[in-house]
Amino acid sequence: MFGTKDHLRAEGGHLTIDGVDVVDLAEEFGTPLYVTSEARLRANARAYREAFPEALIYFAVKANGNLALLRILAEEGLGADVFSAGELSLVRMAGIPGEKVLFNGNSKRTEELKMALEAGVRISADSLDELLALAEVAKEMGEEAEVAFRVNPDVSAKTHPKIATGLKTSKFGIPWQDLVEVYERAMGLEGVKPVGLHCHIGSQILDTAPFVEAAARMMELAGRIVEVGGKIEMMDFGGGLGIPYTPETAAPTPSQLASGIKPVFEEGCRRLGISPRMILEPGRSIVADSTIFLTRVNVVKRAHVNFVGVDAGFNLLARPMLYDAYHHVVVANKADGRAEERYTVVGPICESGDVLAKDRNLPRIERGDLIAMLDAGAYGFSMASVYNGQPRCPEVLVGGGRAELIRRGEDQSVLLSGQVVPARLLK
Ligand SMILES: *Cc1c(COP(=O)(O)O)cnc(C)c1O
Repeated sequence: MFGTKDHLRAEGGHLTIDGVDVVDLAEEFGTPLYVTSEARLRANARAYREAFPEALIYFAVKANGNLALLRILAEEGLGADVFSAGELSLVRMAGIPGEKVLFNGNSKRTEELKMALEAGVRISADSLDELLALAEVAKEMGEEAEVAFRVNPDVSAKTHPKIATGLKTSKFGIPWQDLVEVYERAMGLEGVKPVGLHCHIGSQILDTAPFVEAAARMMELAGRIVEVGGKIEMMDFGGGLGIPYTPETAAPTPSQLASGIKPVFEEGCRRLGISPRMILEPGRSIVADSTIFLTRVNVVKRAHVNFVGVDAGFNLLARPMLYDAYHHVVVANKADGRAEERYTVVGPICESGDVLAKDRNLPRIERGDLIAMLDAGAYGFSMASVYNGQPRCPEVLVGGGRAELIRRGEDQSVLLSGQVVPARLLK
């Protein structure tokens, strides 16, 4: 019923996750609620480790920054791709060692460069300007920064334009034509040690061909760097593998990705006589399908279309609004019910774009029913906001047959947090 998602089942009319009834979870913890299957998360991490046993797998923390989940991924041997000082602190707290972290980003602050150096993590430089700034900071600190270079390979990945990052028009990376020049510059620069190349061509990519194309370009660049006497210790091919959000979608597995890019990498390394470490940075494909998002029906309104108003909106799950993304909907307390009517699921936010799911054929829905949105683990909670005065919801982890709170829900005090009203306004 749920494709390859064997952690989800319909039992006695209720949706279960790893054998735990989600209707009970909604009772116990309230709604809205994010619920993660520990077993699925571990299985996804292991699928990468098994497909790429010789590579380092760096989880892209922006997909999900929950500390308990990061801790599980650390236990599975994963490192981390971080994009900010905040994400770096999170992964350090989760026990991921500095040598298994890459600090990415296209516009880093001086303090972030310092923090990365203090933590002993490698940095991916996104521009010549940043390289020069990094060299200055490192010299001041009496350090030598190990630096990789984010390459813009100009590869087209067929995905939503807002998550395509490898086109020449994208803000990310150094144009591949300029790369060798920048690398050579780094080789002669005090304070930095160039160690390799990095790319990331986009997200939710459902075909291995763009990854293979990017890998080929990266190996070609590695060859030109070796020619000018440069050293290559790491080759990071980024993340971006898509997942099947709709029942009709087929997505490549990590092992299919491996069959595509490993031969290109290995053949290139042999030809150049180099033996860099391969790195991958999956986010979505590790965490997305491990997690469901539960929300309760407040109203059913029969108007131009049948609207189902639920207690969570795009403040808690932004992907439908941001990317026109599809999340499969299950009526969790009628999980084996036959589809009888067509519904559009909307949130409580004061914006007409606050639509979580459009035109879905579902069992007949009433006030009080429980809606589960599947595949919500990536770019779900991590993008949540308190827009419209809506505090963020709790997160729960299901493992070993029980459920544990892994993030408390916020109350309205979060809306006041940090706010200061000048005394003259309090008269
Ligand atoms: C977002 C991002 C990733 C992860 O992308 P997914 O599509 O979630 O796998 C990896 N690397 C970098 C540099 C990123 O910005």
